[in-house]
This record gives sequence, C-alpha cells and structure tokens, in this order.
Amino acid sequence: MTLTGPPQKPLFRERLERRGTFAVAVELVTSRGVVTTQSSRATVEMAQQLALDPRIDVISITDNPGGNAMLAPDTLGTDLVSRGQEVIIHLACKDWNRNALESRGWKLASEGFHNVLALSGDYARQGHRGAPAPVFDIDSVGLLKLFSEMNQGLPDQRRPENRLDPTDFFLGCVVTNHKLFEREVVPQYLKLAKKARAGARFVINQIGYNARKDDELLRYIRYAKLRLSALANVYLLSRPAARAFHAGRIPGVVVSDELLEIAERYGAGKDKGRSYFVDLAAKQAAVARGLGFQGVYLGGHTTAETFFEILQRAEGYAREWQAVAKDIRFGRPGEFYMFERDAETGLSSDELGRSYLETKRRGQTDLAVPASYRLSRQMHRWLFDPEAPLFGAGRALYERIEAGPPALGRAAHVAEQAAKVSIFHCRDCGDCSLPDIAYVCPESMCAKNQRNGPCGGTRDGLCEVYDTECIWSQAYERLKAYGESDGMLEGPVVVKDNALNRTSAWANTFLERDHNTRHDLPS
Ligand code: SF4
Repeated sequence: MTLTGPPQKPLFRERLERRGTFAVAVELVTSRGVVTTQSSRATVEMAQQLALDPRIDVISITDNPGGNAMLAPDTLGTDLVSRGQEVIIHLACKDWNRNALESRGWKLASEGFHNVLALSGDYARQGHRGAPAPVFDIDSVGLLKLFSEMNQGLPDQRRPENRLDPTDFFLGCVVTNHKLFEREVVPQYLKLAKKARAGARFVINQIGYNARKDDELLRYIRYAKLRLSALANVYLLSRPAARAFHAGRIPGVVVSDELLEIAERYGAGKDKGRSYFVDLAAKQAAVARGLGFQGVYLGGHTTAETFFEILQRAEGYAREWQAVAKDIRFGRPGEFYMFERDAETGLSSDELGRSYLETKRRGQTDLAVPASYRLSRQMHRWLFDPEAPLFGAGRALYERIEAGPPALGRAAHVAEQAAKVSIFHCRDCGDCSLPDIAYVCPESMCAKNQRNGPCGGTRDGLCEVYDTECIWSQAYERLKAYGESDGMLEGPVVVKDNALNRTSAWANTFLERDHNTRHDLPS
C-alpha cells in the first residue's frame, strides 16, 4: 500500500506565471485569542473548507490588521500548508524591527511558507493598557529588499566571506491607486515601481470600486515595464462595511457618496443587500479577469460558501464583462487618472492624461512650493550633493572638526540642530533623508517614517494619522515644480542606520557614513 499525503495545489507563483490562468486568492483575518477560541475555530474551519476546494489557489492571512493584536498568521497557516494548501503570509513593519523581521523570515522559510506579502502596516492605535509604540524601523520597500537579499543568501555576520543558505520567498506588495489627487496617485505608482525593483513579483491593489482605476493599474504596470503579476482586490461589501469605508475608518479604503447611497438602499432590504453585494463582487471578479489581471483577491466578512457563490456568478458574467464594467464606476468627482479615459469602454486608455502632461510640462503644482525648499535646493546643489563644488570643503571642515577636541564637534552639532530643528523639525536621527524627500523630514513629519515613498493610508492627500499633508504628496508637488517628479523614487532603497542616531547628519554626509553616500545598497 502506498501512503499518500493530501493533494498539493499548484504553487502560487507557477499559477501566476502560467499564461491564460486566473488565480483565486481568499483573504482570512485571524481573531484575537488562542486558536481554540470559538471565533478562531470558525476561521480554522473556513480555512479548511477553502483548502478543500480546487478553485481556491491560495489563502492569504493577515498580520494584525487595523493595527490590532490578533493571532499570528502562521499559526493558522501551518495547518493549511500541511494540507497542501498554498498560503500567503502578510508581514507588516509596524510591529517588528528589521532583526525581528529577518528572524520571522527564517521561521517562515523553515516552516514551509514562501509567499510573503510585504506591508508597512496600519498605524496601531490600541493595545494592552494603551496605544503600542509603532516600530516602522524599515518600510515595505526595505522589507522587500531584506527578503530579496535573503533569497540570495545573506552574508554570515560571523564569517562574512560565507553566505547563509538562500531562502526561496515569492514576494508580493500592495498598491493603493484608488486615490483622489495626482499627488497621491502618481507617488503610489512610483512606489510600486520601486517595490518591483526591490523584489516584489506580485501586487494586490487596495479595495476600490472603480473599474477604470483597476484598468489603469494594469496599464501602468505595462507602461513602466514592471515584472509584476497583479491580483484585483474584490471585497464583498455590506452596509456596515460601506459606512466604515465611507467614514474613512479603514486607512486608504474609499467608498464614494454614490456607492454609500446604494449600499444604504440595498442594505435596508430584507436580505440586507446580500444579493446586490454578492453580484457586485461577482461583476468585479469577472471584470478583473476580462481586463487581464492574473488573479482575483477575495475578501470580506463572509463564509466560504459565499466566496464560492461569487466565483460561480462571476463565470456567468465572463462574456459580458465589458458591459458589466459599467456597473463598477464609483470614482469620485475630480478624481485623478494618469491615463485618458477610453470613450468607447469608459475604462482606461494607454494615452497619458493630457492635462497631467500639460501641468507637468508647466511645472504647475497644487500645493505652494515654500521658499525654504527653494533655498534648501540651492544649498544642496552647492554644498551637500557629493558632486557639489563645495562638498570637498565641507568634508575637509568636518575632518578637522572630528580631529579636534570633542567640544568642537558638540558645538558644530548644536549649530546644525539650531538650523534644522527650526526649519525641518529635525529629530536628530543622524542619517538624513531630507534630500530624498524634497526637504521634508520623515522622522518628525511622517507617523510611519516612510523613506521610500508613501504608505497607502492617505485620504485626500492627508496623513492617516496626523491632520497634515502627507510628506510624499508635499515632495511630489515640490519636485513637480522643477520637472523632477518622475524621478522621485528612482534612487536606491533607503534604509536608515540607527547607529547614527543623535550624531551630526552633516558630518555623516560629508564623511560618507550615511545612506546617501554608502554604496552597499544598490537599487
Ligand atoms: S537628520 Fe533625520 S530627523 Fe533630522 S531632518 Fe534629517 S531625516 Fe529628519
């Protein structure tokens, strides 16, 4: 007698790469409490039901979503992997520093998890006896870089000439293009390109109900020649979910006034709108396939049966997907698109937006460009840029300062801080990213210290945490005024060196100790 294990589903990466196939992912949100609690048992049962169905290619398990402490995704994932089910583990930077993330990587790889979704993560607002300290030591791009380098075999710290065994992660990321303003949408695309360069091989878009924006994402991926497979996010709405999204309670997720009104109307019906919402999700899935997404990413507080029903109904819409795409037009008035609308389909075209190109050509911005930025640019051009005419003089000065008595170094540091605290609200991190972000400080002005582009949480340009304009929206507008917005995120992946904390950033720049002049972080 031959003993056989459970049937192994095809590898997720192979499903995505096989031409003409359409992968199906389902997102599971773990509960609070141990795995034997009632709510966790229900999630486990649903996961097992999904795993048994051949239509479900991969189950994607969240990591403390909404910033709340939940059961770790690998606890649920271990059982699924043992059943031959492909799993995506979400890994967010909000709760772990780079060493903890690396350690998590070893653990995941050792336990048979290979598909990892790299996220910066929602800002945590509640925890045991108060709000937890946000970590954000690295961001999603830094995490992709770390895991990509683990795939190549990291140098052994004790014997750097040796390399550790390489891992085999298949890395994914998220993009949030259902945004209102150009200063949000374009940086999201630029960051997506940076994520692809850092090693992401698949992308899931954020929840949205606008087929033209979904279409635009695929066109951007082709336009920028990104090596990425894309999964369309299809979240099963309900009236409470529509209200929460409309009120902005989930960072980065938007439901328009029009869609909320529809959700209220159907939600007041006998079935609480179930039939309408399931149908809407089925149409979204059919449109995603028609548009050319490599898969669909189903989510929502519902049962496995309902996910199967969505898939079944979607098949019924497959032939008429272009017609039903007209039912998924819940953009907002004045919403920015990078590409022109296709007059025939009402979806996206491949032509870059004419007014977008025109405002770029004219350097026309929506936010004022402050005089301090214009001055800082000049300072950078003349002094701080490694190619600047006065860079050598700056280096010579700091060499002398460091060779002199410690009091001299302290005085220079105080002078530097006097200038930078008053202008940039500097936090003295010592590894300055001002030139990377058009002279907006990521330490004092960004709740998540994002150094490689915006997180997905902005709402109409504003930070998800502070009531201020996102630093990356500001940077985009500043750079656009000089015709430099396209190159905003083209540089190497930025990873802050915490060893430089409370040391002179100017000294670190001139003496080539900071990330700007270190050459060990290729893009
Ligand atoms: S040194 Fe660090 S804290 Fe200070 S302005 Fe630069 S990035 Fe911000």
